[in-house]
Amino acid sequence: MSPLLAEIDIAHLGMPGPVALAIVALLGYIVGRVRREPTPTSEAQARREIKRAQGVAKNLEAIAGDIRKDLARHRASLVRFKSRIDQLNNEHSEEAWRQLCGEAEEILGPTMHLATQLAHCYDQIRQQTNHLLTFSEVRTDPLTGVCNRRAMDDALASLVAMKNRYNMGFSIAIFDIDHFKKINDGQGHLAGDAVIKKVAQLIEETARETDIVTRYGGEEFVVIMPQTELRGACVFMERMRGHIEQKLGVTVSGGASTALGDGEAPQAILERADAAMYAAKQAGRNCTFVHDGRKIEAIPVQPAPPRPFAGDPALEEEPAAEAVGA
Ligand code: GH3
Ligand code: MG
Ligand code: MG
Repeated sequence: MSPLLAEIDIAHLGMPGPVALAIVALLGYIVGRVRREPTPTSEAQARREIKRAQGVAKNLEAIAGDIRKDLARHRASLVRFKSRIDQLNNEHSEEAWRQLCGEAEEILGPTMHLATQLAHCYDQIRQQTNHLLTFSEVRTDPLTGVCNRRAMDDALASLVAMKNRYNMGFSIAIFDIDHFKKINDGQGHLAGDAVIKKVAQLIEETARETDIVTRYGGEEFVVIMPQTELRGACVFMERMRGHIEQKLGVTVSGGASTALGDGEAPQAILERADAAMYAAKQAGRNCTFVHDGRKIEAIPVQPAPPRPFAGDPALEEEPAAEAVGA
């Protein structure tokens, strides 16, 4: 273990590093936000994003809590080890030295554990920081306000690394607006833009705070769902398709896939979702398909519920995609 780690003193961690990091990141994010022009839709979006930032900060705090506990154990083991050395030092015997060697591994177990945990936490902090970075303007699509392609690439790279190292899963869904050219041709490009904005907004509202909604191309969106298995992603995707059809009067086709690990590249996960989405187009559009790594299957269409009226409990927020542990 590095001497630096051995020098870490719990007393100096009144504010653990990861918490400080979260605060700095949050401040940067909030300062960046207030400089923007507020509009009614961006206000609602800002509220949602603040909620998302709070979620990330909470995760960082939990990581910091884990580190603090491990550090306390590490410190206790060091104190025990030192007192054992002092004790045996007075005996000056070879037997005492042999005894210390025998005990060292057991006493320093928590220290070894700390080293492993720190490596793990480093990865988690990086992943959470990447989530925070998706808030910055260079990572935002100017038309819709959702994440752009660059943010998506970074988030996917970080999630794939987490999958390969710790088997923390995630799934994605691609949505493509059906016959969008007809909207552009029939109602004009500006009307087309407005439709793209509305679809983006509805996906943002329906997805979880921890999901990353991105504009992948012209009228295509990718939703990245951390800690979500394929089954949950399919439930979300089909529900999303129904909402768009019912609320916006346009339709989308969707494709879902999940990270399979084994060192696969982010591109492979995107290609599977894209192939599933293409199958949905072939099947007549306004439907969703899933690629499980071996085959592509249709997801049964859920009939749209009757339109809710004001005061109907159905107007309240529905639960997002089913999440699963790592
Ligand atoms: P399909 O159902 O097969 O998806 O049919 P489609 O008409 O949607 O086909 P396609 O995906 O080829 O067409 C997408 C069109 O979206 C082509 C392009 O002119 C238009 N488009 C791309 N970006 C924008 C944008 O930012 N604003 C507007 N208004 N149109 C865009
Ligand atoms: Mg398209
Ligand atoms: Mg299209």
